[in-house]
Amino acid sequence: MKSYDVIVIGLGAMGSSAAYHCAKRGVSVLGLDANHPHHTLGSSHGATRAIRETYFESPEYVPLCQRSYELWRQLEVDCGKSLLSTQGAVYVAPENHPLLKGVRLAADLHGLSIDCLSSDEMASRFSGFALPEDWAGIYEANGGVLQAEKCLQAQIDLANAHGAEIRYDCAVKSWRKNDAENVVVATTAGEFEANSAILTLGPWACNALQELKLPISGRRIPIIHFEPIDPARYDPATMSVYFWATPEGVYAGFPDFRDEGVKIMRHDVGDTCTPETARRNVSEADIREISNFTDKYMPYANRRVRKSLIGLYTMTPDNHFIIDHHPGFRSVAYATGFSGHGFKFAPVVGEILADMVLDGSTRHPTAFLKASRFSKSALRPA
Ligand SMILES: Cc1cc2nc3c(=O)[nH]c(=O)nc-3n(C[C@H](O)[C@H](O)[C@H](O)COP(=O)(O)OP(=O)(O)OC[C@H]3O[C@@H](n4cnc5c(N)ncnc54)[C@H](O)[C@@H]3O)c2cc1C
Repeated sequence: MKSYDVIVIGLGAMGSSAAYHCAKRGVSVLGLDANHPHHTLGSSHGATRAIRETYFESPEYVPLCQRSYELWRQLEVDCGKSLLSTQGAVYVAPENHPLLKGVRLAADLHGLSIDCLSSDEMASRFSGFALPEDWAGIYEANGGVLQAEKCLQAQIDLANAHGAEIRYDCAVKSWRKNDAENVVVATTAGEFEANSAILTLGPWACNALQELKLPISGRRIPIIHFEPIDPARYDPATMSVYFWATPEGVYAGFPDFRDEGVKIMRHDVGDTCTPETARRNVSEADIREISNFTDKYMPYANRRVRKSLIGLYTMTPDNHFIIDHHPGFRSVAYATGFSGHGFKFAPVVGEILADMVLDGSTRHPTAFLKASRFSKSALRPA
């Protein structure tokens, strides 16, 4: 049986990063994925992902996000490609909405610069938006866009360049500890052994990690790309990525990138599903849901639907990630429950997972992401 220092199971954003960070440290790495490169069944597909630093979800993410910015820039140098552009990010909501309070809190605690904008100021700065009168916006200059497919490819290419062996279409069926305390992984292509393993299974974790009783569930997210009525109003040169908290729901989107159109999704709800049960076709109702948002708040964004697809979130009850050691296997680390906002953190998550399996612990502040927070009393519905 072939033996490695680390086996990484699942090569989406998180696993490809973990494979890269482990291989970069000079250890032998096997990366396995059940599907083919750039498949569209999980969470990491699609051309773009937003990155933003004034983290309203919790200021505890800010240091992790800042490390990710450094690592994305380093990845660009290492792969020789542009992956991250910072056109800013804008948050929009009724005045005093928790979203805006969360942004201001993260900015205050970490000394980050933001522009607080009235609805009039928003209208003159972002002509593609229509804000009701008593609404407000916050702009952060450091927000921006990651070229997600290129990021994934860069992580895999560099893992390879550092000696990692990468196998796609190779599904892991089970793993166990042997007498030598090593991890033995049984796959559709035979068994492999390693000192340690990293499990980055995206929404497949809901079934595959059942024995850990994690309160995670898959969420189906339709993503609609519109051809705008007035492209100039959504030009990436003047428009940022945006996050809207409206009475109808929470929506996130992108400027009008060439070939992509104006891409918008609803963030706060979606059918509960697994990768096996998710409805993969985008329905008229899915399109109507997002069109109702554009009609009201982005009235020049929707001439027609250019393309649409389905992605899956892996939700936790508090919308925070889970990064931990497997309780039964200290040499196994896992990361899941990214709740629809993990991509930007992929580099630092890879670094953390490499620390956990190669050094036993990480210097990064991740205590708030441990699974133990879901003691019985802490559980709330997702
Ligand atoms: C529509 C959408 C928009 C998003 N927008 C943003 C955004 O703007 N900004 C942001 O920061 N985040 C965003 N996110 C969240 C982010 O994309 C995810 O948090 C991230 O991609 C999760 O990556 P992952 O590696 O955990 O999961 P995945 O990408 O799903 O990867 C898991 C991998 O594990 C493999 N696998 C599963 N089971 C096995 C097995 N038994 N054997 C071998 N391989 C296996 C799968 O084939 C898959 O490739 C978005 C997510 C979605 C769906």
